[in-house]
Amino acid sequence: MPIPLGTLERMRSISDVVIRLEEPLAPYTRFGIGGPAAALCDAATAGAFAELLHLVCQQQIPHVVIAGGTNLIVSDDGFDGAVLRFRGERVTVGGERINAEAGASLQAVVNASIAAGLQGMQTMTRIPGSLGAAVYGNAGAYGHSIQERVERVVFTDGGQERMLDNAGCEFHYRESLFKRRKDWVVLTAELSFEPGDRAELQRAADEIKAIRDAKYPPAMRCAGSIFKNCLFNELPPEVQAQIPPKLVRDGKVPSAYFLEQVGAKGMRRGDIQVAGYHANLIYNDGAGTAEDLVSVIEDLKERVFDRFGFAVEEEVQYVGFERVAV
Ligand SMILES: Cc1cc2nc3c(=O)[nH]c(=O)nc-3n(C[C@H](O)[C@H](O)[C@H](O)COP(=O)(O)OP(=O)(O)OC[C@H]3O[C@@H](n4cnc5c(N)ncnc54)[C@H](O)[C@@H]3O)c2cc1C
Repeated sequence: MPIPLGTLERMRSISDVVIRLEEPLAPYTRFGIGGPAAALCDAATAGAFAELLHLVCQQQIPHVVIAGGTNLIVSDDGFDGAVLRFRGERVTVGGERINAEAGASLQAVVNASIAAGLQGMQTMTRIPGSLGAAVYGNAGAYGHSIQERVERVVFTDGGQERMLDNAGCEFHYRESLFKRRKDWVVLTAELSFEPGDRAELQRAADEIKAIRDAKYPPAMRCAGSIFKNCLFNELPPEVQAQIPPKLVRDGKVPSAYFLEQVGAKGMRRGDIQVAGYHANLIYNDGAGTAEDLVSVIEDLKERVFDRFGFAVEEEVQYVGFERVAV
């Protein structure tokens, strides 16, 4: 275990921090896959989280931050270090703004916005996970993403509490500065909205909920889309020429279009299954392993590259792998 006893004692002494040693991570992920963390550390307040992060950085303890675990592939060997979670979930509505802690579920923020008659997040209903991770990955659906709402983000860099405005977050499709600065952890976000009709917003959210629950049954152990969609302008010209124009939406082509053509649908390895109805949806259909999951992903990437000459890129994030870490 790479966490010296003295450091562990100091971590434990931070108030509002709960530490579990050798904790299996599978139950903390939607895939239900992953070996143990040397220490799983939950901080209930922003102050406690900042102190914890500062300590592990200072002591050079290997660490990763996770939240709801809905977009993670955790290695079968787990993570030999500290896995940190910020659990603060306060959501405060004031006028046309919402200020919320990173550990709040995105759905709680969506619900609060609808209840307050604020429009702008109703299409994000049923995107699982936390607000903090939604900022990190610029989560979105139906042509909208969180970047349209973010006014400012308060984060810790492991030393100080800092703030970024929307431009400073450098949002792009499923990208933000936080994806490149893994040592920066979102603590709170302030979001702004326009006034809307509460009943209409609820109706729109309910419609989307029904569609999404059919596509991703709530008990399905998956991460939503494994691969990001492809930006049309970044595809090789000969590939662009093959794409039916109606498939291009908001400048993006569904990765599923390419995955389907290389035989992804229905593929299975061990208990890892690619959905028969959606080539970009992979789920754990029993006692699936990270090894099989990663091998299916690698296989699909290779097939797309061999056939189309470009690489599809994962949206899902890895924990405990040498090659790619969160
Ligand atoms: C059924 C299903 C459907 C989905 N549909 C969509 C969709 O429509 N659109 C979409 O965008 N996504 C979708 N996703 C993916 C997932 O919901 C998002 O990526 C979500 O934002 C992940 O949140 P999480 O709290 O579970 O994060 P985790 O999976 O725990 O972590 C994801 C990443 O966020 C980082 N992170 C977590 N908290 C913080 C923080 N406070 N500060 C900085 N970094 C942090 C972690 O280090 C990690 O790299 C779907 C997933 C599932 C299972």
